[in-house]
Amino acid sequence: MPTDIKHRINALAEKYYPEMVRLRRTIHENPELAFAEFATSALVADTLEKTGLSVKRGVARTGVVASLHGNETGGTPALQATRVVALRSDMDALPIQEATGLPFASKNPGKMHACGHDSHTAIGLGAAMILSELKDEISGEVRFLFQPSEELVPGGAPYMIEEGALDGVSKVFGLHVLSQADAGTVGFCPGEMMASADELYITIKGKSGHGARPHLTVDPIVVTAEVILALQTLISRNLDPFAHGVISICSIHGGFAPNIVPPEIKLIGTLRSMSREWRRFAHERIHEIVNGICYSARAEAEIRIESGYPVLVNDDAETAFADSCARELFGDDRVFRAERLMASEDFAYYLEKVPGTFYRLGIRNEAQGITADIHNDHFTIDESSMKAGAAMQAYLAIRALSQG
Ligand SMILES: [Zn+2]
Ligand SMILES: [Zn+2]
Repeated sequence: MPTDIKHRINALAEKYYPEMVRLRRTIHENPELAFAEFATSALVADTLEKTGLSVKRGVARTGVVASLHGNETGGTPALQATRVVALRSDMDALPIQEATGLPFASKNPGKMHACGHDSHTAIGLGAAMILSELKDEISGEVRFLFQPSEELVPGGAPYMIEEGALDGVSKVFGLHVLSQADAGTVGFCPGEMMASADELYITIKGKSGHGARPHLTVDPIVVTAEVILALQTLISRNLDPFAHGVISICSIHGGFAPNIVPPEIKLIGTLRSMSREWRRFAHERIHEIVNGICYSARAEAEIRIESGYPVLVNDDAETAFADSCARELFGDDRVFRAERLMASEDFAYYLEKVPGTFYRLGIRNEAQGITADIHNDHFTIDESSMKAGAAMQAYLAIRALSQG
């Protein structure tokens, strides 16, 4: 590994910065929602082809998978063939009306790149451009995954995996913009970083009747009250006090008159956890708690748990590796320890299959008034952060491949 590689990568990130800005603004102006990223996907595929990569279109409907093979011949041919590192970008926008007033604001009413996926896509393309000039330093294959639908369950990632995007891949890296960190910084978090998010749909069925003769009814409202409180013991009595989890019932519907006991009540809620094992246990306990209370009251329950994204677990060794790469590339003062979040992310699916890490890219610039959080209609980024993102992804790929 020549010692000047990090300088070359930082210089190439500067060289391709105007192109990344152009691409990011084009995508930002033309946001497309989950699984409908047709123009974005075409722009990505065309750009990658022009950059000299072999490109597969239409993966997971609107996804793109592209390969860049290196010329570096270190290691045996067998080892060469097995070295594949994947870099992931997500491409979808959100159903939000943009209010930034930027000259390149969304031209599609009610759609906005408010989660930074426009910049993730431009960064992925920037990394491809950088690496295409460094083929002699690449031993193996860098595979670029541009996926649809990060925002909408079931997510694009499981379909990308089903269609072979991870075949032969030994490591995977991805990043997400973070409004709370200054532009150009990167943050890492080993282990569990983001939560699983499951949706709960519970119907409590009783027997309706006159509100003045409750003994002739099975009152689902009283049962529901007990169920909601008992579900809180999932956290207070079924979860290690040092661990994290949330259950919130966020919707109750039922009843229509002051003197009629209704036949049923419908509840909707969310369950979040930071552990794959506890998540399975929590699903079991929800059934036991709800069915147990209903049994004691002679009511019945219908329980549907719609599984969202799994817990995002960063590999400890790969996270330490990426952290050290960032320190080499940018210096210690641009690297921070990222916090865990109860939000969820479908990058978790890739990490269930291969080791890697998902890290944060700071995009904040208080002097320029760039402070709005993601999913906000005023959200934007300090674009100069894309240089750090592309350099980081490119450097991770080269360094990971050189490790074998
Ligand atoms: Zn988002
Ligand atoms: Zn996002």
